Amino acid sequence: MIYLNNRIVPKSRARVSVYDHGFLYGDGIYETLRVYQGTVFHLDEHIARLFRSAAMIQLTIPKTHEAIKRALSKTLKANRHKDAVVRITISRGEGPTGLDPALCPSPTFVIMSHAFKPYPAKHYQQGVKIAIVRTRRNYNGALNAQIKSLNFLNNVLARIEAKKEGALEGIMLNYRSFIAEGTVSNVFFVRDGVLCTPSVNAGILDGITRGLLVECAKELRLTVREGMFRKDALMSADEVFISNTTMEVMPVSSVNDTKISSRPGSITKKLRRAYRKKVNAYIKKAERSNE
Ligand code: PLP
Repeated sequence: MIYLNNRIVPKSRARVSVYDHGFLYGDGIYETLRVYQGTVFHLDEHIARLFRSAAMIQLTIPKTHEAIKRALSKTLKANRHKDAVVRITISRGEGPTGLDPALCPSPTFVIMSHAFKPYPAKHYQQGVKIAIVRTRRNYNGALNAQIKSLNFLNNVLARIEAKKEGALEGIMLNYRSFIAEGTVSNVFFVRDGVLCTPSVNAGILDGITRGLLVECAKELRLTVREGMFRKDALMSADEVFISNTTMEVMPVSSVNDTKISSRPGSITKKLRRAYRKKVNAYIKKAERSNE
């Protein structure tokens, strides 16, 4: 079942116009959220980011923060989902062709929920291959990476390249050849015990998982460096991992054809455990407040 513009409808009837500017121009925004045992993880942060993305494209979301929460809970109930991945998509809406957002009086609002399909355990036990690709991350001055937009062609092109290399994820450099991020993930590496990750100024999406992992690292008293890094730093790192809402902390075994020595390394394992602890504590707290 799909939540479409204030109504729950069967998937077969969840249809959007070919004149929707999301379809015509990639004009819209989205969020991906993870539901653990019926609790949406860091829902407020995801909704806040949705509103930030909307503001950056001058899109007025046709619902309040609280109304989005209610719609999400309706969608989960209709699908009887306990462990799920949810996507909220808001496009500019239907309107005649032309780029002017004023042509579209009402945004299209969609929530989709899918049962969570775990990644293969092997990915976490042995690590995955990633590849630094030739496609560069969008220049922030052209399309700010902080906008979680429907305009995803930059990432799609990078993913095509990664797949050709047999890699699960493609890592893009920014226009100044500093490491930016993956097509759907943030990237971290460890060197001499220091946890490094590209700074938001490198032109990346400020991942919610990334933020929580930096918090975990500080709680573990690890030194964290958010900065500008060249690809050699990643290739010669002691440990590498990628993160996002659904994969959490995924260890990396090789970058292009270069093997990473510790896979998964001890700091990666520690952070993965600390992240799981945060998830469990969050679920417990949510369950207590629902009692
Ligand atoms: N970077 C990009 C380009 C993404 O699309 C995503 C998530 O989809 C992330 C990073 C990770 O963000 P989060 O941790 O909030 O899922």
